[in-house]
Amino acid sequence: MTTITPSPELIASFVDIVGPGNALTAPAEIAPYLVESRGLYRGTTPLVLKPGSVDEVSRILRLASETRTAIVPQGGNTGHVAGQIPREGKADMVLSLERLNRIRDIDPVGNVIVADAGCILADIQKAADDVDRLFPLSLGSEGSARIGGNLSTNAGGTAVLAYGNMRQLCLGLEVVLPTGEIWDGLRRLKKDNTGYDLRDLFIGAEGTLGVVTGAVLKLFPKPLGHQVAFAGLKSVEAALALFDRASSLCGPALTGFELMPRLGIEFTTRHIPGVRDPLQTIHPWYALIDISTSDSAESAERMVEGLLEAAIADGLIENAIVAQSEAQRRTLWHMRESMSPAQKPEGGSIKHDISVPISSIPAFMAEADAMVMAAMPGARICAFGHMGDGNIHYNISQPLGADKEAFLGRWREMNAIVHAIVLKYNGSISAEHGIGQLKRDELASIRSPIEIELMRRIKHAFDPAGIMNPGKLLRQD
Ligand SMILES: Cc1cc2nc3c(=O)[nH]c(=O)nc-3n(C[C@H](O)[C@H](O)[C@H](O)COP(=O)(O)OP(=O)(O)OC[C@H]3O[C@@H](n4cnc5c(N)ncnc54)[C@H](O)[C@@H]3O)c2cc1C
Repeated sequence: MTTITPSPELIASFVDIVGPGNALTAPAEIAPYLVESRGLYRGTTPLVLKPGSVDEVSRILRLASETRTAIVPQGGNTGHVAGQIPREGKADMVLSLERLNRIRDIDPVGNVIVADAGCILADIQKAADDVDRLFPLSLGSEGSARIGGNLSTNAGGTAVLAYGNMRQLCLGLEVVLPTGEIWDGLRRLKKDNTGYDLRDLFIGAEGTLGVVTGAVLKLFPKPLGHQVAFAGLKSVEAALALFDRASSLCGPALTGFELMPRLGIEFTTRHIPGVRDPLQTIHPWYALIDISTSDSAESAERMVEGLLEAAIADGLIENAIVAQSEAQRRTLWHMRESMSPAQKPEGGSIKHDISVPISSIPAFMAEADAMVMAAMPGARICAFGHMGDGNIHYNISQPLGADKEAFLGRWREMNAIVHAIVLKYNGSISAEHGIGQLKRDELASIRSPIEIELMRRIKHAFDPAGIMNPGKLLRQD
């Protein structure tokens, strides 16, 4: 494929805006911005720009609109659908938010933090902690993912059950539009019924409508009680019954309910240093239950004990442990968060990030397992995830001894099998990772023509020149 190259004059004009020290053109410097963590997509770009102010972002976009230059916003480059990767063979320019990383204000009484979009998620969590508050978004990639990326993918993570996803955690936004105009929507209001919700359009837009430069995020009082239990279960049906029991008993204190298969425990104990099987006994399925209470430490203890006693008495749980310290709680979560990286050493892995109504999870899993095994005997299904949100990462590791390339060549075929069952249960083919390049063509085939047409009209209204992250989410004709 031949790569389009913009004129040296155009490149120089962009470089002038940020200064030569903040514009990368050397192939070795650009390389990390062109690949994503799964290695499925590799893009090309003549230039990576690292603006240091909102004004510089505005000038870049104004010039891009005037010259019809495609711009790809990039945060921490941890996205799973290649929305942050420039297209191959095109001259898309990467706009990295990494230098816009200042916390602008923090108000513990108002329970808000105002931050640049390039702040790393872990730094926001730390800043909240420093003023005795909690910012509850938590993901395996929190040490690198940035707030603008979290917003643009409407990230979920481990505490959605109690606090919601990024859409629920954001009060206001500042966005630079493709024309270079700046929309200051940095409002701190919980109630604001004044017309169309522009904020909600930018959240989850995957950088196709504008560049998020700042955000007002919600903080919460830190819970006083925190308990994490890990339970061995005989079936997905038992997991659903346990979730039902936990929701009724704990109400809003139920913060996380994660499902893991035996194969996932084997992968993590085999490949992730320091991870050990927390139970002495072997079970087909496991649940990690996270409970946090705002009134006292004792109430969380009472809740977890009450839940486990009742669930064991009812035969829902075969064996369980409760973490005895914060370090043990972190160890259990570390095991859960290691499920993704632990699949890598096992060879190729075909991924699905699906959601179905939670009560349909057992039926979905049974049907998907049967269809996948029929199509690919020996496939090793490692389906795990945020069961409490109805969100399962239905991943398939290659059969033992299979050829990795040949296995990965069946990605679309396996997606079609799994997604057909997802749709049968009125589910979603992207629960939390977005559409990007990976699922773009599939989106067009599963949403109704009117829905796609409305999305196109929105895109055109914001970005008539079509410069914002073209070819992501929607096809660019
Ligand atoms: C180990 C691991 C665990 C993960 N766990 C989860 C999880 O539990 N839940 C979950 O939801 N995701 C998860 N992810 C996916 C990913 O971390 C999230 O999608 C994250 O929110 C992306 O943030 P980022 O800064 O890396 O964005 P990037 O990957 O850089 O970009 C993602 C998208 O946002 C756009 N974008 C980035 N910044 C801006 C901006 N300022 N303005 C406009 N558009 C922008 C990009 O163009 C792209 O389309 C995980 C990823 C990894 C590697």
